[in-house]
Amino acid sequence: MSGQPQDDCLFCKIAEGHIPATIVRETETTVAFRDINPQAPTHVLVIPRAHYENAAELAAAEPTIAADVLREAKAVAEEDKLESYRVVFNTGSGAGQTVWHAHAHVLGGRGLHWPPG
Ligand code: 5GP
Ligand code: ZN
Repeated sequence: MSGQPQDDCLFCKIAEGHIPATIVRETETTVAFRDINPQAPTHVLVIPRAHYENAAELAAAEPTIAADVLREAKAVAEEDKLESYRVVFNTGSGAGQTVWHAHAHVLGGRGLHWPPG
């Protein structure tokens, strides 16, 4: 909850540069890097540097940083020249969340079906 880095968190380690990632953008409050197992030609994760378990907790504690994440999602889409893109926050294991540090998936570069399943 606190926003402080967690020793056992993969995305805190990526944000701190302790684990390598293909970083596409960085700001004072966010890091964007390519997903290691991409589900689309563009599949970038945008994370806050601060550790919160999911997007809702981030928004409740740090609304301006939650907005930074959304702005960076758009910036990633623009850098990859995407006309359309999808931003996903899997929340809870039943929705496929596997990393307990808030992250936006930015997906694009192929047809994106709706509903997503
Ligand atoms: P979630 O399933 O929690 O919504 O998303 C976690 C994402 O992190 C997955 O899409 C997974 O492929 C990605 N991921 C897991 N480990 C790593 C890693 O070490 N590096 C990168 N770049 N992505 C990772
Ligand atoms: Zn973390």
